[in-house]
Amino acid sequence: MGWSTEQDGAGTQGVQDAQEGSGAGAAGERGGEPARPPAALSPSRASDFMQCPLLYRFRVIDRLPEKPSPAATRGTVVHAVLERLFDAPAAARTAAGARAMVPGEWERLLAKRPELAELFADDPEGERLAAWLAEAEALVERWFSLEDPQRLEPADRELYVETELASGLRLRGFIDRVDVAPTGEVRIVDYKTGKAPRPEFAEGALFQMKFYALVVWRLRGVVPRRLQLVYLGSGEVRTYDPGEADLLAVERKLLALWEAIRLATETGDWRPRPTKLCGWCDHRAHCPEFGGTPPVYPLPVRAAGGASAGGSGVGSR
Ligand code: SF4
Repeated sequence: MGWSTEQDGAGTQGVQDAQEGSGAGAAGERGGEPARPPAALSPSRASDFMQCPLLYRFRVIDRLPEKPSPAATRGTVVHAVLERLFDAPAAARTAAGARAMVPGEWERLLAKRPELAELFADDPEGERLAAWLAEAEALVERWFSLEDPQRLEPADRELYVETELASGLRLRGFIDRVDVAPTGEVRIVDYKTGKAPRPEFAEGALFQMKFYALVVWRLRGVVPRRLQLVYLGSGEVRTYDPGEADLLAVERKLLALWEAIRLATETGDWRPRPTKLCGWCDHRAHCPEFGGTPPVYPLPVRAAGGASAGGSGVGSR
């Protein structure tokens, strides 16, 4: 259907982390600021709540710090290269040029977030850093087997989107790339540095894309024609062409999710939901499932009968 001038089918032969504060460090620390109830929903935080309500609380309300991870940081560097490569004229967008951008983008990120230096603090010879950079370069190079940036002129890159639904729920997030065809059709593209999930686990990534599609639909009045996930880890591209019914279903799901979040915020009742993913959770020391105790809940809670009480010691249950 020809977005920009991409070759037909480019990438269809072909590929996890996130932007909007992906994974480690996403929540940051409150830094003394008063805790506030959640005000908006992003795909990452919606996924957090679906995975484990207590994890959502730790990230959004308590804003507990998280350790940076090599994988998430590598994803940030790769995303930066794939974004900035389009600053160059089309003919200069080569695999060799993109690979060469990786060390510089790592240095830029490190300058913005000096705490990332701890990732390689125990690597005096720089061997682990070199291997990590080489992995990032390989991911960047693989992208060229999936898409051809010389034939693409994105309408937007790293696009911040935010909208308010009729219910008052605000949705927001960052879209890696938006392509617009001469005919006006919109394609939303997301890069994943992990491997493509098995079909039974694909719904999570697609949920994120439908979330973005809903926001774009509400903002621009056009249902995106195609959602495209580019999995650099396994060299695959997955696409989905949404319809209005899909996006209305996502809207209903988000409204139900927001109602559940609102209720948990008011009552302070954030349940842990242990899964295999707990192995990746930075907050086990605070999680009752692992013998921990959550911090004192920092928001007022609504006692039975509707009266509010000040910050109570209500934990996760
Ligand atoms: S360890 Fe598991 S159950 Fe506990 S907060 Fe983290 S994700 Fe939730």
